[in-house]
Amino acid sequence: MVKTQKNIAVIGATGSIGTQTLEIIGSRPELYKATVLAAGSRVDDLIGLAIRHRPSLAIIADETKYNRLREALEPLGIATATGDEALCEAVCRDDVDMVVTATVGYSGLAPTIAAIKADKDIALANKETLVVAGEYITGLLEKSMSRVFPVDSEHSAIYQCLQGEDKADVKRLIITASGGPFRTWTAERISEATASDALRHPNWSMGAKITIDSATMMNKAFEIIEAKWLFGLDADKITAVVHPQSIVHSMVEFKDGAIKAQLGLPDMKLPIAYALCEGHRLDGAEKPLSISDYENLTFERPDPHRFPCLTLAGEAFSRMGNSACVINAANEIAVAAFLNGRIGFNDIYRTIERTLDAVPYVATPDYDDFVTSNSEARMFASSLIGNKSTITVIP
Ligand code: NAD
Ligand code: MG
Repeated sequence: MVKTQKNIAVIGATGSIGTQTLEIIGSRPELYKATVLAAGSRVDDLIGLAIRHRPSLAIIADETKYNRLREALEPLGIATATGDEALCEAVCRDDVDMVVTATVGYSGLAPTIAAIKADKDIALANKETLVVAGEYITGLLEKSMSRVFPVDSEHSAIYQCLQGEDKADVKRLIITASGGPFRTWTAERISEATASDALRHPNWSMGAKITIDSATMMNKAFEIIEAKWLFGLDADKITAVVHPQSIVHSMVEFKDGAIKAQLGLPDMKLPIAYALCEGHRLDGAEKPLSISDYENLTFERPDPHRFPCLTLAGEAFSRMGNSACVINAANEIAVAAFLNGRIGFNDIYRTIERTLDAVPYVATPDYDDFVTSNSEARMFASSLIGNKSTITVIP
């Protein structure tokens, strides 16, 4: 258990993971202090959180909102800043011990790299960082004192199951998936799904982007990629299984045939707390699970025909290089367009597939290559969406 107060930077403070992290921090002031809070554009929410938590610094990515932030917080003695550079500098401050990366999408990459280079510990919620640049990040971690504690519930479960085990004894990781809101829908019905259908996740309450990723099962493809880099296992040792109740958060199978699982309610408080505590347990982090209330815990094979995004993990592994970066960028553009009603549900996969074939392949990308591939993929995907007929002609 952590004995002294730990200073935390929460990047993505106003979101689903960010606010839950701050609830834990606020409830345990003897253990944690939020010293840096950063958000994208919800300035009033950020101001409210800063008034409550009194960080040294609050940052808003959206420059048009900066004046409002400054005018509200500087009279209270809270420094304010805006812009990507300020965010990367903020995570390196002396009054930051751990960075919670709770921002969404590609925006997590640069501050996470900055934090690793500054030897800060990371509570990693932003899975896109490892999706985009897993090999590169792993290389940086080898040269850094920084440690990564997973926040994603599946990866936290695997991390918990691996405690006290020898990695050489691991046969495979089994990542559970709820199956999302369309698990029982026919392919035809899925093709007509709207954003409001897709936003109705059966078990988890999360930000909009990850909720759509759960509906397409892109989220599970991302989690398979995330697991490869977090746990250093070959891709053929990582599988996904659909578990509609979201009680078993993931499993590890060992060479003697044993399977260990971590169970709990679908609530992110426990994995967030476990990461904040550096892999130790916080009393009452989550409501207890009454196991006898669950007569049926069921498991199914995922269906890649109705959910083709799931196959994109295998595609990324067979191509490697910048391909997962391209998949991620195209997905971000397509999900935003789907949420705005500009494309249909199945166009998300089609946009990614077309973009992956179009953007130049880079076998051993460095940071600048990720920046370039990300922006090329965004431009290509946006142009497809701008001319929607070019997406839908694909069989
Ligand atoms: P969300 O949309 O609720 O919140 C995103 C946060 O990031 C907001 O505070 C937003 O203001 C901020 N943000 C956006 N762009 C930014 C930028 N450029 N700079 C700084 N901040 C920026 O998202 P979420 O559901 O909390 O998910 C956050 C991350 O955690 C995602 O990578 C997601 O995949 C992962 N995750 C979420 C859950 C969950 O239960 N919500 C579970 C597992 C993993
Ligand atoms: Mg997850």
